[in-house]
Amino acid sequence: MTSSFKLRILLTRQEIEAAIRKLAAEISHDYRDRYPLLIGVLKGSFMFLADLIRNLDFPLEVDFIRLSSYGGATESSGKVRVVHHLCSEVAGRDVLVIEDIVDTGLTIAFLLDYLRKKKPASLRLCALADKPSRRRVPVVIDYPGFTVPDQFLVGYGLDWDERFRNLPEIYAVDADGP
Ligand code: 5GP
Repeated sequence: MTSSFKLRILLTRQEIEAAIRKLAAEISHDYRDRYPLLIGVLKGSFMFLADLIRNLDFPLEVDFIRLSSYGGATESSGKVRVVHHLCSEVAGRDVLVIEDIVDTGLTIAFLLDYLRKKKPASLRLCALADKPSRRRVPVVIDYPGFTVPDQFLVGYGLDWDERFRNLPEIYAVDADGP
C-alpha cells in the first residue's frame, strides 16, 4: 500500500443503515422464535453487529470469535487460526455468523468448517460486504449486505493497520500519485 492515498466514500451512513434494516427484517423473519446465537467475527464486524442487533427485537445471544487473517498487510495469507475463542456452547444452537467482508473466502470457509464440527442445529452467514471478484473458495452468504468492487475498504469497523475503524461510513482507499 502506498504512503500517499485518498479515502473515497463508497457507502454512506444512510446506505449502510438501509441495508441493515433490510437484513434485520429477513433475520427477524427467520429467527424470531429460535433464540439464535449470533457470532461476530472480530475485530471488523463489531460495529455492524452492534447496529444489526439494535434492529432485532427478539431474544438472542451474542458471542465473538477472533481469527488471524490480514495482520498489517492487505492480502489474505490463507492461513487462519482462532486467536480468541467462543465462550458459548454451539452444539444444538441456531448459529448466525456475522462477518464484515467476504473477500477470498478463506477466513469464513475456515470458520464455518470449525463451527460445523461443533454440531450446531443450523449454521448461516450474514456478511455486510461481499467482494466476489476475489473469491478463492466458494462461500454461500445467506444474508448479504452489499456487493463491493475489488478495492481495499476502511471504516465502519474495517481497519488499515488498526486505523480508520471508527469512521461511520465505508471508504475505498485510492492510491494517490505515482
Ligand atoms: P478473506 O479470508 O475472505 O480473504 O478475508 C477475510 C477478512 O479480511 C475479512 O473478515 C476482513 O477482516 C479482511 N478484509 C477483506 N477485505 C478487506 C478490505 O477491503 N478492507 C479491510 N479493512 N479488511 C478486509
